Amino acid sequence: MQHFYFDHNATTPVSPAVLASMSECLAEVYGNASSIHYFGQAAKQRLETARRQVSAMLQCQPKEIAFTSGGTEADNLAILGTVRHSRRSTKHVITTAIEHPAVLNTCTQLEREGVVVAYLPVGASGVIDPDDVRRAIRSDTVLVTIMHANNEIGTIQPLAEISKITREAGVLFHSDGVQAPGRLDLDMKSLGVDLYSLSAHKFHGPKGTGALFVRDHTPISAVMFGGHHERERRPGTENVPGAVALGTAATSIGELPTANLRDRLESGILQNIPNVEVNAARSERLANTTNICFRGIEGEALVIALDLKGYAVSSGSACSSGAVEPSHVLTAIGLSAEDARSSIRFSLGRRNTAEQVDGLINAVSESVAHLRRIAPRAFYVHA
Ligand SMILES: *Cc1c(COP(=O)(O)O)cnc(C)c1O
Repeated sequence: MQHFYFDHNATTPVSPAVLASMSECLAEVYGNASSIHYFGQAAKQRLETARRQVSAMLQCQPKEIAFTSGGTEADNLAILGTVRHSRRSTKHVITTAIEHPAVLNTCTQLEREGVVVAYLPVGASGVIDPDDVRRAIRSDTVLVTIMHANNEIGTIQPLAEISKITREAGVLFHSDGVQAPGRLDLDMKSLGVDLYSLSAHKFHGPKGTGALFVRDHTPISAVMFGGHHERERRPGTENVPGAVALGTAATSIGELPTANLRDRLESGILQNIPNVEVNAARSERLANTTNICFRGIEGEALVIALDLKGYAVSSGSACSSGAVEPSHVLTAIGLSAEDARSSIRFSLGRRNTAEQVDGLINAVSESVAHLRRIAPRAFYVHA
């Protein structure tokens, strides 16, 4: 059976160019980038080339890039590093209800450390109102952290407008940009952010490598302790092949995608299946992402049914302690727990074709009809 991948917001395949550059580096360049001899300098050179490539993608300075082990670490470093650095007696942080767990759970950690965190609601649009940010800022606000594009529903946040407000208020602004490379413009100057997180595996690089953009002169402390690497921001012997892979991925993002295939998928599903709704349909969204509620269906069951037909998709729900928790993003945009559990995310990538999309539409139609037939809605009402 052939298998087709429609889960690119979870991770992407490593591109041939990334694989070639990374394996060459892994095989040939084994020096420690901190060593002063030939081997060390060869590694250092690769590291700095990669830093320039990443900074070119973000249109920032190379020294403003700190390599990390991925998006989660970049988010932790941005949030913990800036807030802990502040010497204020009281500290306040503003974020949103729809952030990735890498941001939300870091904010929860800050609350344990005595920081007050405001979780802004997004409403049905899944988009933050900049005026809500303005109103939430207090005299002791240290940081605003708002993602660029949402991984589950694809909604895009108005970073440039929000950064005008944070600038004026003298508050630092971090954005989790993990879903943005290859999908949105990434000019750090026009977005106006002070910190911006990246993860290679979301744009055709390998897992376990990423970066944090830290605007020059942004006050930040390290959150791990060790050597003087990465301008005192992130200790540990540099993962040179990982940085090289990230650099190559950054040079290969190409043209921004159109929404053609995503729209073909959405309209195919809407035309063929009754009682479905596209979540946050009217908001500005990533061109590759759609999140659809199939009423009366358990999302997990649909994911499994599609997997058996060769299609990989994802449900936003997380299975914790045996119970399927509804997605915090979908409930934040106003879905009932039941509708949230009935929703599926499809995220397209460069290699998906119109034929694959048509096959997926058929597979979804058959699976939904089957699941609705064998399990009446009442079966799924949990409480
Ligand atoms: C995947 C993802 C992360 C985590 O990145 P890792 O490199 O997997 O740790 C953080 N934020 C968003 C929005 C993501 O999609």
